Amino acid sequence: MKNIVIFGAPGAGKGTQSDKMIEKYGFGHISTGDVLRNEIKNGTELGKTAKGYIDNGQLIPDALMVDILASVYDTFGKEHKGVIFDGFPRTIPQAEALKKMLAERGHKVAAMIELAVPEDELMTRLINRGKESGRSDDNEETIKKRLNVYHTQTSPLIDWYEKEGIHHHVEGLGTVDDIFGRICQVIDALAD
Ligand code: AMP
Repeated sequence: MKNIVIFGAPGAGKGTQSDKMIEKYGFGHISTGDVLRNEIKNGTELGKTAKGYIDNGQLIPDALMVDILASVYDTFGKEHKGVIFDGFPRTIPQAEALKKMLAERGHKVAAMIELAVPEDELMTRLINRGKESGRSDDNEETIKKRLNVYHTQTSPLIDWYEKEGIHHHVEGLGTVDDIFGRICQVIDALAD
């Protein structure tokens, strides 16, 4: 089992690379952003709460996110090839909660793969994505807030996972296939 955290700023390519990892390795996938957007679409209470935070570029409170994550993780059953965590954790308390939740099930994170992309490139990608995605948070003002949240609340996780001994830095520039090749090298070198 290879549970993998795919990590990076908004626009780093986490979703795109997750799709390729699912196809090649048969991993399960949890995108907390997709889970929340689905809740909003379905008009649930959780969706109503989440919308305010998302539209403002802010993070949903940790306690809420941790509950959601555990329940989605359990849908994959006790035995699976691995799950990709995409967009989670985004804070140190979330990383600690993920470690605990997995340990309670006899599981762990095998690797945290950081997609490193320069700031100006992130901005260009997100503005371009906004023209097609229809996402309410892909506009210039909210993108700036999301990048700021990434730098202040999420990027400290790089050191946190470095200390855990499972941080892998991958250059997130180049073609989608080039980047995927770098990711595969990391995954293929992991013990089963
Ligand atoms: P994403 O699709 O991963 O870019 O997430 C879109 C938005 O959903 C974020 O800007 C947050 O408002 C919210 N969100 C997604 N994942 C999390 C998380 N792990 N913790 C808190 N908020 C999250």
